[in-house]
Parts: sequence; C-alpha cells; structure tokens
Amino acid sequence: MLNEINSGLIIHEIKAIPISFPIAKNNRVQLGIGNSIKNDAVIIKVTTKNGITGWGEAHHGRCPGAIAHLVNTTIKLLIENKNANDIVDIWQKIYHNQIASHGMGTAACLALSGLDLALWDIRGKAIGLPLYKLLGGNKKEVPSYAGGIALGYQEPDQLVEEAKPLIDSGFKALKLRLGQNLKADASRLETVRDYFGDDITLMSDANTAYTLEDVRNIMPILERLNISWLEEPFPPHDYRSYREAKHIGHVPLAAGENHYTRFEFNRLIEDKVVSHLQPDLSKSGGLTEVMRIANLASSWKIPIHPHTSKTALNMAASIHLLSSIDNGGFFEADVSKNNLFRDYLTKEKPYQINDKGMVTALDKPGIGLEVDETFLTEHPVIEGSSYV
Ligand SMILES: [Mg+2]
Repeated sequence: MLNEINSGLIIHEIKAIPISFPIAKNNRVQLGIGNSIKNDAVIIKVTTKNGITGWGEAHHGRCPGAIAHLVNTTIKLLIENKNANDIVDIWQKIYHNQIASHGMGTAACLALSGLDLALWDIRGKAIGLPLYKLLGGNKKEVPSYAGGIALGYQEPDQLVEEAKPLIDSGFKALKLRLGQNLKADASRLETVRDYFGDDITLMSDANTAYTLEDVRNIMPILERLNISWLEEPFPPHDYRSYREAKHIGHVPLAAGENHYTRFEFNRLIEDKVVSHLQPDLSKSGGLTEVMRIANLASSWKIPIHPHTSKTALNMAASIHLLSSIDNGGFFEADVSKNNLFRDYLTKEKPYQINDKGMVTALDKPGIGLEVDETFLTEHPVIEGSSYV
C-alpha cells in the first residue's frame, strides 16, 4: 500500500499565486522598515498525480510577483516529475542550483520555503496525519504572544486601549514595536508595564532600525521594565553590531526572521550573541530547514520562536513545528487589524487562543487547512513594495 501511495505522489503541477490587499489608512502601521500600505503573500499550490493538493506560503520578499515567477519558471522546471515525498532531495536540488551558486539567493530561499511547506502538506494528506504527528510531536499547549503592537507611534492611552482586549482575550505576553523616538518609547513601555503589571511578559522589536547608540540608550530602560528580549536591533548582516550589543546590557537579543538556511543560523548560534532564534517557515527554508535549525539550536539549549509570516498556512504550520521540537518557545500570534490572509484565505481558522494564552495544533491531515481558491482570484497581486 505504501508503494501505491508513493507512486501516486509524482508532482503533476506546481503553481505560485501572488496575492495582495491594500491596508486601509487607519490600520496602517509605521515600522522601522517603513509604512505598511498593503499585505502581500505568495501561495504555492502543488498537485500530485493521484490528486492530492498541498498548500504553502512563501514570504513576499517585497516583490511577490517576482517570487511567484521564480517558482512558476526556473524552480518548476528543476523539480518537474519528482516525487513529492522526496522532500530532502528536492530541497537539496533547489539549494544547489538556486541558492549555493549564482541563483537569486534570498528570493530562491523564500520560494523554496513555500514549496517545501506545500510538499509537507502533501505528505501529511497522503498518509492521513497532521504535521505535528508526522514530525513525532504531540498536541501540547503552546504559549503564544500577541505580536506587533505599535508602541512607537501611539499615545500611551491608545496603546493600552489596543492591548487591553488582547489581554482580556487570554494573552499573557505582548510584543511591542519600538519606534524611533527613544524617549517616547521609554514612557510608553513604562505605561504598558504599569497598567498590566509584572505578570504579563513583554518583548520589544526594533525591526532592524537601531544603531549601537540607540541600544546603549534604551537598554537600561528595557532592563528596569523587565522586557524579555530586544528583537532585531540591526539588519541581519550586521554581525559586528550584534556582537557589540551583547555587552551593553542584560536583556537578551532575539533575531532570525531575516536569516536564511541553517548556515546563517549556524553563525548566529556560534557567535553566542542571540539568545532567542526566530526562523520563519515561509522564509528560512521551509519546514525541512527549520527543523534542522531547531535541532542545531537544541544542542545549544536555545529556544525557537518562529516568526509569523502573513497567512493562516504559515501560522498553522508554525504551531505544528512548536508541537514537535524540544526547544519550542512562543507562537507569534498576528493581532493586526483586518488581516484577510489570516481570516479568509482558508476555510477554517489557523488557531484559537485559549484563556491561558495558549494555542494547539490543528488535527486535520497535513497543515490542516484548505485554501479558498475564489479568495485567490479575488485578491490579485498589487505590484510594488508593501512598505514605503
Ligand atoms: Mg520582528
């Protein structure tokens, strides 16, 4: 029977569909990386000879049309007629041809990530198991934090107003985006800590916009307010600044959402600077690679808190991952207002927060979600960067 299942898993069709929706003016968020004007994602659909459809999400890379084109042309030709179950070989083939040598590095890594998720979805569906079971995990409660609350650009009372319903809905942890006015950030952080008290876990995210001087100035405040981590103070390639920042204070550094493959994570780990790793299943190389990164980090006792991309597919897959590794940390819940990709791309929701701020993995085979294909045609790509 296994042979039969396997022979049916020859890849019949691969299609990448870039999708977008504009963000209403009153819901736009100013970040260190720009003002978000639209949401983008690239959905990967893989169909096998025996009619199984796998779905994955590739991160948009600020140019969703280009990522989709790469999948629909070069990558498609590379893996035509392979068996969808040969995930390691397919990963290695794309790595060898498109990432290891003159082949659009980051874009190829995003494309590969989405494809890899779709192949894992197929594997689960082919034998009728949800991903967490396929990976040897169990249905545990996974702690979750509310990600991306826009600290730096709101009045303190508005910030409390934004965070309060989240705490009321069960969250015990919040991540606040730092702005570029350190003094204002400090007073806002103070307001949040005072209002919600010490039982709530608070993290902070600088979205790569800090200088070493900024870190020197904000660190004593983060320490005093017991902030659990400072995320991405610098761009991912600025290893020197990360090394220097390590010695500035005691708040641990977090990074990884802009690092690609185990090879870049290996450096992050060996530099002994970053204490919390945040690979993204739709960016860092897919589930195949993030499992490797998690295993590498496990031997250094470093926790994995996967960064969340844009769609329900990535979110549900992240919870499967966290249910299947021995060094899983927090799930990053996207609490942005009106994210259609989270709420309407798939027929069911990717997760529910319980009153303890925990989530659990879905039980249907594979990732556990089916894409509404009408949604794809109704939200065609809007070209251009999502941040201006
Ligand atoms: Mg971040």
